Amino acid sequence: MKVLKFGGTSVGSIKNIKSVKEIITDGDKKIVVLSAMSGTTNALVEISDYIKAKDIDAALNCIEVLSQKYIVVIDELFENSQLKQEVGNYIDAIFEYLTSLTSEKHTELLYNKIVSQGELMSTYMFTKFLNQEGVNARLLPALEFMRIDKTNDPDVFYIKQNLQRIIDEALPADIYITQGFICLDAYGNVANLQRGGSDYTATIIGGVIEADEVQIWTDIDGMHNNDPRFVKNTHAISNLSFDEAAELAYFGAKILHPQTVMPAQEANIPVRLKNTEDPESYGTLISQETHGDGIKAIAAKDNITAIKIKSARMLLAHGFLKKVFEIFEKYETSIDMITTSEIAVSLTIDNDKNLAAIIEELEKFSLVEVDNQQSIICLVGHSVVKHHETHRLFKVLQDISVRMISYGGSNNNISLLVNTNDKIATLQHLNKYVFEDVEAL
Ligand code: ASP
Ligand code: MG
Repeated sequence: MKVLKFGGTSVGSIKNIKSVKEIITDGDKKIVVLSAMSGTTNALVEISDYIKAKDIDAALNCIEVLSQKYIVVIDELFENSQLKQEVGNYIDAIFEYLTSLTSEKHTELLYNKIVSQGELMSTYMFTKFLNQEGVNARLLPALEFMRIDKTNDPDVFYIKQNLQRIIDEALPADIYITQGFICLDAYGNVANLQRGGSDYTATIIGGVIEADEVQIWTDIDGMHNNDPRFVKNTHAISNLSFDEAAELAYFGAKILHPQTVMPAQEANIPVRLKNTEDPESYGTLISQETHGDGIKAIAAKDNITAIKIKSARMLLAHGFLKKVFEIFEKYETSIDMITTSEIAVSLTIDNDKNLAAIIEELEKFSLVEVDNQQSIICLVGHSVVKHHETHRLFKVLQDISVRMISYGGSNNNISLLVNTNDKIATLQHLNKYVFEDVEAL
């Protein structure tokens, strides 16, 4: 069986919903994972923010605006008045629930309850739409099988057992529809897999059912070799290894949620990235195979903070790095890049929630300098570190002031840290040196 995940834009308009129906009705049995309709999760986050800011009028207004969108979609998608009514009632109940939440105190749980509504609406509407079109589709409620444990990792044992159970209990179907993103936490409360987490849902499900393939359908024709928003003439990469794709997803390629690759890699299930608007194009196939050496793709990740920790005593001393890392561990802050000299270490973090406390502790034994507004530029490809053409990337040093370089951490990744103001220029220069100047060699 295959698992197909469709993103927000794929279910964001009547036209796209109809294309998704065409794509999934090829006669094969499958599980389809859906995101919320595009714009919905952002609107739900906004509602939660207004409740947090105690601006209840603004929250109610946002709920009203969002509900109007759904009224229009229901009217266009469903043909007979009875079905319109049935779906309308379900969606009305959700908006009434959201309205009732505006009088509650803001907590993380309240946020989780609010943002989970988008996927509940999209999957309900889509299943009813498929039924209207004569497709034997059934809903598998994610909250009955998708669960994370106390460390926020998928509870694979629980998921496997419960998914199997509800499939067995459901009436036979050709297509099972389920919600991406949403899950229960270890205590049974509504939680989620973080923004963009529907991709992750798809590979978690793919892993537990040992799917033949997981397909992630979006509005772009695969993972590109550079960021198409900033660089002209980028192209989709046909094949990536799990390691290459994981590095790219983690270091900024927006197309995949960072943790998506892991469950697929563990279970060795190929992941195919496909474009809903161009279903025939090959897309990107992520598998355990490697195709070619050298730099394959460049991606950038923003909102990085660089911290330089300097200590005279680091000279010939051991135990300094341990002391530094222990502080980051204590504050559950993961480190992305790291470079060292004999008297200082520079590292980067992307979660600065506990930065003030971390600095306070570091300053007890070192001098600390912090640079905000940094971007990691990551160059990925099998064996990039050893490839004879990799040196070309370093030409960028003549154009851009680079704050850190991480080379050799893995064979597949070289990372540069630059000021975010220089990000676009760095991506463009690198594109020229690495991908375009090949003929000039
Ligand atoms: N709807 C959620 C979001 O917008 C999850 C997803 O789309 O993957 O973040
Ligand atoms: Mg996404």
